Amino acid sequence: MYPSIQSKLPEVGTTIFTVMSQLAAASGAVNLGQGFPDFSMSGELTDLVAKAMNDGFNQYTHMNGYPLLRQRLTEKAQRLYKTAIDPESDITITPGGTYAIYTALTAVLQPGDEVIIFEPAYDSYIPNIEVNGAIPVRIPLQFPDYAIPWQEVRARITAKTRVIMINTPHNPTGSVLNKEDMLQLQAITTGTNIIVLSDEVYEHLIFDGIEHQSVLRYPELLKRSFVCFSFGKTYHCTGWKLGYCIAPEPLMREFRKVHQFNCFSCDTPKQVALAAYLLNEEAYLSLGTQIQQKRDFFRTLMQDTPFRCIPSHGSYFECYSYGHFSQEADKEIAIRLTKEYGIATIPVSAFYKDNTDHKVLRFCFAKKEETLAKAVAQLKHL
Ligand code: PMP
Ligand code: GLN
Repeated sequence: MYPSIQSKLPEVGTTIFTVMSQLAAASGAVNLGQGFPDFSMSGELTDLVAKAMNDGFNQYTHMNGYPLLRQRLTEKAQRLYKTAIDPESDITITPGGTYAIYTALTAVLQPGDEVIIFEPAYDSYIPNIEVNGAIPVRIPLQFPDYAIPWQEVRARITAKTRVIMINTPHNPTGSVLNKEDMLQLQAITTGTNIIVLSDEVYEHLIFDGIEHQSVLRYPELLKRSFVCFSFGKTYHCTGWKLGYCIAPEPLMREFRKVHQFNCFSCDTPKQVALAAYLLNEEAYLSLGTQIQQKRDFFRTLMQDTPFRCIPSHGSYFECYSYGHFSQEADKEIAIRLTKEYGIATIPVSAFYKDNTDHKVLRFCFAKKEETLAKAVAQLKHL
């Protein structure tokens, strides 16, 4: 007999990323599902980690993050977004972006609070809200451009609205917020007690000459915001699970209360290495162009398949619809493509709590050209 537990997340199963990656491995399929690169990360950066270890940076670092790394990140924010951030009080290094999001929500949510999220939504958001006893208020992004319906946002705000979550560039759709969106968000929240949680893990993965609209560009918005980032995405090392959160001091103070008794401090040698590598601006500024080439290569290949492109402007992903040639549920077609055609994708209904199915699949194009070519070659037989 095991002790019985009243589950805090009774409806939660295994994340779609693990489900599809396992199915891909079991089927010997090319994995364009879960978002991770199959090409090498920078050798200069891995050498810097080895150097940090050999130089003796192997013990706990400061609980808020290696001080020089925090310093360099605030300098970067100043250069890119013209924002003054205090490295002492306004930034904390975390074991990944997901953890930063969870910690921010846990720091501010009380049972019964409402959190506005936009669907399709990254799959950790709703469980992170519910585990805190709060209520996700789900607003669908407009299909197929996945824009935020601001009129509806205004209508869904109540006295219980505690947080509005945004994500730009957006996973899974690759849509990006523009200046007008940010001004709408600012207008809606000004004078309220609402907190903004901005997931910007794809900050540098933005294409077509578009400027990333970070909350860090908007001082009024930043006053009420937690802004979350991931080194895993910026430096092609998703397995490092390192990220950071920026927030004004009164918010960050509460964030750190949760953080210090959970993770306390993150991997030291990698933080030392990242502090040095951040001096190389080109490494992150060239990222959008590099990854856009992959998107374009993939998109051209996909023109020879029956799928229809829903253009992505950022992230590692592009969505494609198939409702014009099949009425199969997206989860079913995703499984069939993996098993029978050797290509794994992510069904976008997995990012809706009610499994809304627009007959769209998400493809990760952050792969070697040969991987993309091999994957798409199989789809031509569809
Ligand atoms: N938010 C979004 C939208 C993501 O796609 C991911 C996955 N990289 C994360 C957060 C989490 O990032 P990390 O792997 O650093 O936890
Ligand atoms: N962010 C990645 C994706 O969207 C996966 C992260 C994970 O597997 N939890 O595919």
